[in-house]
Amino acid sequence: MADTVNTLPFFYGNITREEAEDYLRQANMGNGIYLLRQSRNYLGGFALSVLHSGRCYHYTIEREPNEMYAIAGGKSHRTPVDVIDYHSQEMDGLMCLLKKPCNRPKNMQPKMGPFEDLKEKLIREYVKKTWNLQGAALEQAIISQRPQLEKLISTTAHEQMPWFHGSITREDSEPRLQHGSRTNGKFLIRQRDSNGSYALCLLHERQVMHYRIDRDRTGKLSIPDGKKFDTLWQLVEHYSYKPDGLLRVLTEPCSRPDGETGRLTRHQTPPGPMDPMRRETNVSITPSLFLECDMAIYPSEAMPMDTEVYESPYADPDELRSSTVDRNHLFLEDGELGSGNFGTVIRGTYKMKKTEKQVAVKILKNDDNNQSVHEEMLREANVMQQLDNPYIVRMIGICEAENLMLVMELAELGPLNKFLQKNKQTSIKNITELVHQVSMGMKYLEEHNFVHRDLAARNVLLVTQHYAKISDFGLSKAIAEEQNYYKAKGHGKWPVKWYAPECINYFKFSSKSDVWSFGVLMWEAYSYGQKPYKGLKGNDVMQMIEGGRRMEAPGNCPPEMYDLMRTCWTYKADERPGFKVVEPRLRDYYYDIAQ
Ligand code: AMP
Repeated sequence: MADTVNTLPFFYGNITREEAEDYLRQANMGNGIYLLRQSRNYLGGFALSVLHSGRCYHYTIEREPNEMYAIAGGKSHRTPVDVIDYHSQEMDGLMCLLKKPCNRPKNMQPKMGPFEDLKEKLIREYVKKTWNLQGAALEQAIISQRPQLEKLISTTAHEQMPWFHGSITREDSEPRLQHGSRTNGKFLIRQRDSNGSYALCLLHERQVMHYRIDRDRTGKLSIPDGKKFDTLWQLVEHYSYKPDGLLRVLTEPCSRPDGETGRLTRHQTPPGPMDPMRRETNVSITPSLFLECDMAIYPSEAMPMDTEVYESPYADPDELRSSTVDRNHLFLEDGELGSGNFGTVIRGTYKMKKTEKQVAVKILKNDDNNQSVHEEMLREANVMQQLDNPYIVRMIGICEAENLMLVMELAELGPLNKFLQKNKQTSIKNITELVHQVSMGMKYLEEHNFVHRDLAARNVLLVTQHYAKISDFGLSKAIAEEQNYYKAKGHGKWPVKWYAPECINYFKFSSKSDVWSFGVLMWEAYSYGQKPYKGLKGNDVMQMIEGGRRMEAPGNCPPEMYDLMRTCWTYKADERPGFKVVEPRLRDYYYDIAQ
């Protein structure tokens, strides 16, 4: 949302109420002139400033928990712009109708808040430290989980600020403020208890004043009778430019003593209603918690990086990379995870040098141990072995024993289509998150010149409700870079409903034909696992496509996403976008609805 609002000519970003009044007065355009700015106390909220009869009025547009926007007590709308459109027709509590936007002066960009500059650095540091990631794994974590990370950082960023001294006593705080410079307005914040209450300690005429900061039932922070804020850094920001009831404004942050950090671990962060991780799940999550688990049981809000399959087991230099698995280290369990063309897939445990991994083992049927199926499975293993991406099921190794076995990472929630059929309450945001992850995995395949050739919701497996991996590389091929497509020798047992026209007509497979399949996969996902082209035979589907017709949008499918499906179903491969284009389009939409 913030990205869309940023482009509005009457959005000024993080300016103060006083600055807004100056802009409105200078414009001198009469009654009902208005501008929009970022709320300085509510995360993701806005403020609307309007001029009427020489006076300025300011209204907070809050973002509600259901992702709608409303002026406190007023009607809810989908976007802040809808709020403005509504109030240009109806006063409904405002002093006047909104008549004309007051646009930013030429060349002025919306003002960035101090936190915006810091945010990027904090997110990077946080991911690096919490999950010990670097390089591509770090980048991919940030791309796929940015909305969640931003929320997390917003509510815990104070731990990184020099003025946050953690859980120290009132007595301990005083010498810290009296030490060194005794500038009026020097301040620090300490934690008072684990219920999310703090104290602001402020130096005034050589005396330390202590103000309580309490958290109300909705999670908002305030000094008694003071303005309410979502985060401590917004509170500090506010009192740094306005005393607003304090004896004076905050001036100089009193830094923590050397070497001490105010940071609490993710595990210990006090529970606060504004912390999305805790609000929804009530569990504390640390990567180490999972490593201690015998079974990979993940809370529903866990991020991909919390699971043990985000990075390759061979990312640890102490684990020797080998394509063969020692049968003596592989323990098979009862119970089938599924079955496919080759045989069955069952759960197992693989004892590695340092850890034990939960794995899925594809076992070649004994009676099918004829040469060609055997070779096919080795070809699949050969492709998988060359791939290493968080959004692709990795092969751990091949085990040749009583049967030929392909040992893979475990994605225990199984195929996406079945999961969605059973979990109809899954939100559009959640579906978009998963589909975006698939596009990230496909972008990786495209960059590495592999075509999947069987991309469908049944071949996307879920590790958790928020973590998808592409699987089944049985039909996949590496393609020569200069040719950029694979030519099949003849028609096989093909998933025709997922295939682009050039696959059927000319046996030509490329990343562009995977994009076509990805469009069908999106359709399956937004229709909660329904079968595409229901009731039609392969031939009917081909005729439908050749006739220029396409599937209708699934009910409740966001128009932006149906639009993207239609783009994936562009008839000519040359005119169809690649994953290089599809992934950022999905990303933008996901960030927009997830903020
Ligand atoms: P496939 O032969 O690859 O189509 O696999 C058949 C079925 O086995 C899938 O539909 C899944 O239900 C299950 N399966 C395959 N691979 C895995 C895995 N890595 N983790 C969990 N289940 C799997």
